[in-house]
Amino acid sequence: YLNLSGVNKMFGDFQALDDVNLDIERGEFVTFLGPSGSGKTTTLMIIAGFEHATKGRITIDGKPLDGLKPYQRNIGIVFQNYALFPHKTAVENVYFPLQMRGASRKEGLEKANQMLELVGLKGFSERHPKELSGGQQQRVALARALVFEPSLLLLDEPLGALDKNLREQMQIEIKRIQKRLGVTTIFVTHDQTEAMSMSDRIVVFDKGRIEQVADPLDLYHRPNTRFVAGFVGESN
Ligand code: ATP
Repeated sequence: YLNLSGVNKMFGDFQALDDVNLDIERGEFVTFLGPSGSGKTTTLMIIAGFEHATKGRITIDGKPLDGLKPYQRNIGIVFQNYALFPHKTAVENVYFPLQMRGASRKEGLEKANQMLELVGLKGFSERHPKELSGGQQQRVALARALVFEPSLLLLDEPLGALDKNLREQMQIEIKRIQKRLGVTTIFVTHDQTEAMSMSDRIVVFDKGRIEQVADPLDLYHRPNTRFVAGFVGESN
């Protein structure tokens, strides 16, 4: 479904990504795991179209993404600082991407309300972000990323700002919603436990390179490199 081939990224003289190759299947939940600065976010930004690869090729179903603006890529994104519009209500926040795509107000708001219900926020539509808890705001951000039925969902440390209990609750919620919609998902984290519990497959990054791609158990029992063994074993 999604293919990255020989992707390189230079920021001036600094090589942020070095020959990244990756295949992701439709409907998969894939986690990018790695220490700070290892290239996870940069890879996501290139897929989303906010950064351009210096070299390499990215395709979805065989079609190259270069030349497509971010909003033309049909990709939903949630960042750690999910940046809801403070002056818009929850339902207006979720309606926004539909509005940008030319949906009528009536249909758009209806769809936005359905999506809020799916993420567990029935009855919260008219609240403004400041009247919602951190976890609820995160759910609104998730609804906003999913409302236009993207084929790919990118989640960049979306739970980083939440406390431990809420974080675990949201991990389960995200998995439930992802399964329900069947949307292909890339989840970025530097938390090994989170990666182990949520992923179909884990991609381990270090210093701009992919060290290993494997399912969680394989990664744990059969790390390819000393780095992976150390990193994945760390929290145990
Ligand atoms: P974190 O877990 O801290 O978010 P990451 O694995 O997502 O880290 P990236 O954000 O992809 O790491 O950054 C990879 C490297 O590229 C880092 O060394 C970073 O400093 C560098 N980098 C990222 N964006 C830029 C930029 N716009 N200009 C220069 N260097 C950058």
